[in-house]
Amino acid sequence: MGKIVAIVGRPNVGKSTLFNRLVGGRQAIVDDFSGVTRDRHYGKTEWCGKTFTLIDTGGFVPNSQDIFEHEIANQVKIAIEESDILVFMVDVSTGITDLDKASANILRRSTKPVLLAVNKVDNAQRQYEAAEFYGLGFEELYHLSSVSGSGTGELLDKIVSMIPEDENNSELPESQSYEEDEFNEEPQVVALPKIAVVGRPNVGKSSFVNALLGYQRNIVTDIAGTTRDTIHTEYNAYGNHFTLIDTAGIRRKAKVKEDIEFYSVMRSLRALEDCDVAILMIDAVVGLDSQDMNLVHLAVRNGKGVVMLVNKWDLVEKDHKTSLEYEKLIRKRLEPFDDVPILFVSVEEKQRIHKAVEKAMQVFENRKKRIPTHKLNETMLPFIEKYPPPAIKGKYVRIKFITQIPGSNPKFAFFCNLPQYVNESYKRYLENKLRESFDFEGVPITIFMRKK
Ligand code: GDP
Ligand code: GDP
Repeated sequence: MGKIVAIVGRPNVGKSTLFNRLVGGRQAIVDDFSGVTRDRHYGKTEWCGKTFTLIDTGGFVPNSQDIFEHEIANQVKIAIEESDILVFMVDVSTGITDLDKASANILRRSTKPVLLAVNKVDNAQRQYEAAEFYGLGFEELYHLSSVSGSGTGELLDKIVSMIPEDENNSELPESQSYEEDEFNEEPQVVALPKIAVVGRPNVGKSSFVNALLGYQRNIVTDIAGTTRDTIHTEYNAYGNHFTLIDTAGIRRKAKVKEDIEFYSVMRSLRALEDCDVAILMIDAVVGLDSQDMNLVHLAVRNGKGVVMLVNKWDLVEKDHKTSLEYEKLIRKRLEPFDDVPILFVSVEEKQRIHKAVEKAMQVFENRKKRIPTHKLNETMLPFIEKYPPPAIKGKYVRIKFITQIPGSNPKFAFFCNLPQYVNESYKRYLENKLRESFDFEGVPITIFMRKK
């Protein structure tokens, strides 16, 4: 399971500056429905071949000058509970403040690793001043300048040293040579499909889960090793047998709006790491917003299956074209990963709930799909012949054969003479042809060009 790293600390210490540096640019997302620009607060990052999910908890703190200790304290507690590694950020230019002390008191009691990041250490003088922060009582202290990036490498080295090798690393080792049909079938571990229900607060996740489970609720099991309160339930009905990961049930723990939002994001991140297929639920009236898009991006980065449910369809005034138009709008937002099932449901009126489950199971099967090498070549080589990669500087790319690489989600290696000359748009063409020929609906596909 992927690790979740949370950056905590009071406002203005530089959390979002570090986050943007590590997750790559200030990629603000414009919310098409509300027209509001929102920054991203979580994303996947990679260092030395290892990936982890990073969350900037600052994005969920109310934006005000007067932050109270208990507000910070609540979110620090949530972050401790829901993440694997904590980066506690402080600001050398202000020295230790009361809010820092309050956070430190909670963090010191955490059993999770805490890395103290003293930020704004932009010069040698400040390096000297940073020693003051040893007074907070943490052993691991890092000097950073998030603005210039200095010191961030050491912090990242430490973080990835605590993360096991990716079982599902998206990179194919360059050094290895892959021969046709060299792969043997891996032993199949029989495990139930894990399906998570994720989405923002109030979209109807709990209602959906409750409707599915009905009176099965009494068999709820807390599987050891999972985050407390993330409920894993075995579900078995109408020939569908799977483990349901429920991110709901947050409200009773968090009362403030920001905390509910924060909690629900943390839970969704965890569930996304854990699942095979994510059912992303949105509210038909509210539409798809930047947080939803973030979850889609994360699912894609993690190679997870996705089914989108547009819930509360009962509340939408509609004619025969409404769902088609709505669907088109969503698909446009999802590009380039738009081969995703989109279902219009009403949990309240029990409309298409079982269809949703069936779709999720189908996506699970699609994600496991293995296409034999001979079949891939038979199918794909003619497409390539018909529309070969464009020649660059008079050089022709010749794709010789294709094989699927073993892994938890579909990955294909295209072996050719000049892999570096194949551009993104050609890869997109290949992906589209793969999707047309073999059903990979709801599943992210990775394409590698490799030298042969
Ligand atoms: P957050 O509220 O903790 O997310 O803090 P921000 O990332 O928004 O940063 C607050 C302010 O500190 C901004 O004006 C940043 O430009 C500034 N800042 C962030 N990192 C550094 C740094 O390494 N050095 C200096 N001098 N300023 C920084
Ligand atoms: P969660 O926060 O995502 O778990 O959302 P809940 O399941 O608690 O639902 C939030 C609210 O939406 C509740 O008042 C539900 O009764 C309502 N709700 C859920 N599904 C539907 C639906 O299909 N139609 C309508 N009209 N309301 C719904």
